[in-house]
Amino acid sequence: MSEFVMTIAGESAPTEGTFGVRNPATGEVFARAPECTRQQLDAAFDAAAKAARDWKTDEAARRAVLLRAAEVLMASVGELSPILTAEQGKPLEDAGIEVFASAIWSQYFANLEMPRQVIQDDDTAYVEVVGRPLGVVAAITPWNFPLTLAFWKIAPALLAGNTLVLKPSPFTPLTTLKVGELLRDVFPPGVVNIVSGGDELGAWMTSHPVPRKISFTGSVETGKKVALAAAPDLKRVTLELGGNDPAIVLDDADPATVAAAIFAGAFNNNGQVCSAIKRVYVPESLYDDVVEGLASHARSIKVGEGTEEGVKLGPINNEPQFERVKELVADALAHGATVVAGGKAMDRAGYFFEPTVLAGLSDGTRIVDEEQFGPALPVVSYRDLGDAIERANATHFGLSGSVWGADAERAAQVAGQLECGTAWVNTHLALAPHQPFGGCKWSGIGLENGPWGLSEFTEHQVVHRSKGPNGLNANTARLLS
Ligand code: NAD
Repeated sequence: MSEFVMTIAGESAPTEGTFGVRNPATGEVFARAPECTRQQLDAAFDAAAKAARDWKTDEAARRAVLLRAAEVLMASVGELSPILTAEQGKPLEDAGIEVFASAIWSQYFANLEMPRQVIQDDDTAYVEVVGRPLGVVAAITPWNFPLTLAFWKIAPALLAGNTLVLKPSPFTPLTTLKVGELLRDVFPPGVVNIVSGGDELGAWMTSHPVPRKISFTGSVETGKKVALAAAPDLKRVTLELGGNDPAIVLDDADPATVAAAIFAGAFNNNGQVCSAIKRVYVPESLYDDVVEGLASHARSIKVGEGTEEGVKLGPINNEPQFERVKELVADALAHGATVVAGGKAMDRAGYFFEPTVLAGLSDGTRIVDEEQFGPALPVVSYRDLGDAIERANATHFGLSGSVWGADAERAAQVAGQLECGTAWVNTHLALAPHQPFGGCKWSGIGLENGPWGLSEFTEHQVVHRSKGPNGLNANTARLLS
């Protein structure tokens, strides 16, 4: 695998220090990533601040750059996908989809209207509200979708006229670093700076005096640290954090149909999706059929190294997460859960865990109450729908949720009672660039995507043009009367 370098001020930024990146399919270090120093971080923020002066002046040029970036990404699927598979673990086809999705996000924002609303136009004044850029953005991403989530930030931040310093997760820095390199001729120098390092680099970024905004995707625990670090300087924050999405099956649902769709919504990316289904509530009358439907998908899906033909689920991305999934499954078993499919780590190198379906457990068990973020799904039975809704909401999380039933109106009525940012009906994980995404409660602050996500990369400014005589308006004219 080739060398990986940071991009600062449009140039390659060599480092003395590096850290190893492991392939989760083998557990072995297969490449090294640069370790950014404090001086280099200063240089990156400095470059971003300087670049912001020109970058914010030409909206048409910004749109053209985003379109060109999308073209380069699409043309680079073949180069980027193997890197993403090697560092993240996901199958090659999914890696390609992730690169493609990043391009789609870039295109979408290239064509989105900037926030601008005329709120008054009469004899006395013309008043509009416009979105001004914030300046420099510090962007921090996790390891599950390193590239797509980077473009959820890069594309709207750039369209709004900001510049960025972006840090990927130390578990998956390589694809993002490579994209920084591939786009060096597309972004003017300093507009997008890509740095890499450990968690402490993230902490340096959030307490750095230059950025005016932190756009963060990651865990609740780290999100709270980011909010604290942002507070003394009143930096703006968008926090996209963890989830513990419930899926509620209604008593009129067809068990085989919902089992297939819920399996897909739970095990996508090997369960490592913030808004994957993480617990399922099923009425007693359908419980056995839904559990068996889920288990048969879990038993038959092909798990393996992402480069292998036909593989649908790869390994868990990293050792701490692998250990966590093992621990939560062991805890569930210790509390009386039944393994209906899977249930243990696979007997091979790397961080492979069998797709697991757990039955006979309830709220109050760790794997139901906490975010497992891996291929193990608890299925809980319920007798009373009101009680199921209450249990689904009895959590600090509030990212998304879904309700499944033959009567879509009734299902929508139940979905409306879920305390979460996105409530799906008869689907899950239906994400799109035009659809705002964000969480309630501890799942986050603010939104990404759509005009709402763009707006979060701006500061609203009122531009009030007086039409009164001599610039006098009703408030100031009284002084002279
Ligand atoms: P994490 O919080 O451990 O790390 C996320 C990023 O923050 C990494 O780049 C990390 O290096 C950096 N970081 C760590 N400590 C920091 C600090 N003190 N200050 C600043 N940055 C710091 O999360 P993770 O394990 O990489 O990702 C998994 C989590 O992300 C899950 O909880 C998942 O639900 C969540 N997630 C949320 C969304 C969403 O859009 N809501 C999307 C994907 C993942």
